[in-house]
Amino acid sequence: MSQVLEEILAANAAYAQTFDKGGLPMPPGRRFAILTCMDARLDPAKYAGLSEGDAHVIRNAGGRASDDAIRSLVISYKLLGTREWFVIHHTNCGMETFTDEVMRGLLASSLKTSSVDASGWHDSGDGPGSTEGNYIDWLTISDNARSVVEDVTRIRRHPLVPKDIPIYGYIYDVKSGELVEVPQATEAGRAG
Ligand SMILES: [Zn+2]
Repeated sequence: MSQVLEEILAANAAYAQTFDKGGLPMPPGRRFAILTCMDARLDPAKYAGLSEGDAHVIRNAGGRASDDAIRSLVISYKLLGTREWFVIHHTNCGMETFTDEVMRGLLASSLKTSSVDASGWHDSGDGPGSTEGNYIDWLTISDNARSVVEDVTRIRRHPLVPKDIPIYGYIYDVKSGELVEVPQATEAGRAG
C-alpha cells in the first residue's frame, strides 16, 4: 500500500473513532459558501473557523469563478440555502507563475511533472505530450487583487445568481495567515 494511502486510512480510523457529527443536516448551518484556491497551504476550516456542517467550501486552482465553481455556488444557494458568499484568493498563488501559453507548451512536450526555477517552468519529461491543453482556459492570474475583482464581478453578473446575495472579496496572506479585504471586489459584490 502507498505510504500516503496508509496514513490517510489510519487518520480516518482515528477520526471515525470519536466521530459524533453523524446527525448534521445537509444544508450548511451558518449559511455561507467560500470559493477558494486548492493551494495546500490554505486550510479554510482553520483560517475561517469552520466546523463540519458550517459552510460550503468550493476549491479549484486559483479559487477562480469558473463555470463549474458557479455551478456549485448556484446549487449552494438554490438548493441548500446559503446567503453570503466569499471569494478568497491568496498571495504567492501558483496560478501567477504561468500563462496559458506556458501551460500549453509544457503539456505539448510531455505529461510528466515540470520543474520551475527563477527563469520559469521547464519540461524535461519524456513525451509524448498532448495539444489538448490548447482547448482549456487555465484561468491563470497576473494580479491577485484584480483576479478577485474579476471573479466577484463575474459571479455578481451571472444570470443564475440572485441580486440579494452579498459576495465578499478577500486575499489570504500565506505569510501571516490573515484575510485581507479587496474593497473593490466587495463593492462589486454588494447585494442589490
Ligand atoms: Zn493558489
